[in-house]
Amino acid sequence: MNQPILDCRNVSYSYHNLSGETLALSNLSFQVQAGEFLSIVGPSGCGKSTLLSLIAGLSHPEEGEIIINIEDKSRIGYMLQQDHLFEWRSIRRNVLLGPEINHILSSEHQTLADRLLKDYGLDKFQYKRPCELSGGMKQRAALIRTMLMHPKLLLLDEPFSALDYQTRLMVSADIGRIIKSSKITAILITHDLSEAISLADRIIVLSKRPARIKKDLPIHLTLKDQTPLAARNAPEFSSYFSILWKEIADEYQKTN
Ligand code: ADP
Ligand code: MG
Repeated sequence: MNQPILDCRNVSYSYHNLSGETLALSNLSFQVQAGEFLSIVGPSGCGKSTLLSLIAGLSHPEEGEIIINIEDKSRIGYMLQQDHLFEWRSIRRNVLLGPEINHILSSEHQTLADRLLKDYGLDKFQYKRPCELSGGMKQRAALIRTMLMHPKLLLLDEPFSALDYQTRLMVSADIGRIIKSSKITAILITHDLSEAISLADRIIVLSKRPARIKKDLPIHLTLKDQTPLAARNAPEFSSYFSILWKEIADEYQKTN
């Protein structure tokens, strides 16, 4: 088997504050192969965002280790629920922020920005400020900013949850298409099981806090080459949904 792009080995992490210790992750192990699209689902508060911030290197495991087989760690993209655009910069200057602050801004970045702004229907808005755009448009701008860094590993923490349902379907379909066509490895946290099934190659269900892996489910839809919207009509879709729903409902029924 190839060397995985991400190897989480026996990872534990707790938060410490005045009221005591909160064990968020306990002895969590899994691997992700290059090019794989993994989705992580689980009850709210179980430790999903904690796990992603550890993978992003924003904090470090208390026990265990996280091995990322990417030479240039700046090629880990991290996209959150809020778009985090800077209000005083135009959309274009927000999009070009990564290369600019890394002092690597080139004509190639400008060309890619032009193309993505156009593909995402933002070219006419590129000189506007974020407050002049809708939530969906801002989230698309945030995605372009992430993509301009040519990520090899893309970490997505509920990136669509601030969007209304129709925009969410459209933006998630776009993002799914881009990720698959550019063969980026992606980890998507979502609470939307249909979104996870329609986008991912594999879904991990986490238990209640402290998170452990409850289920590791490969997804094979016979409509695989179709869009994520069409994937929802695949014959296997509803049985995957029932399996995942049962696992999650099971966790919610448990008392602490
Ligand atoms: P999820 O993303 O699955 O909803 P999180 O990873 O954000 O969950 O949080 C996991 C647990 O850790 C929660 O119980 C949360 O209350 C706790 N937690 C998160 N951040 C902090 C923090 N900065 N200090 C103390 N506890 C925290
Ligand atoms: Mg979270």
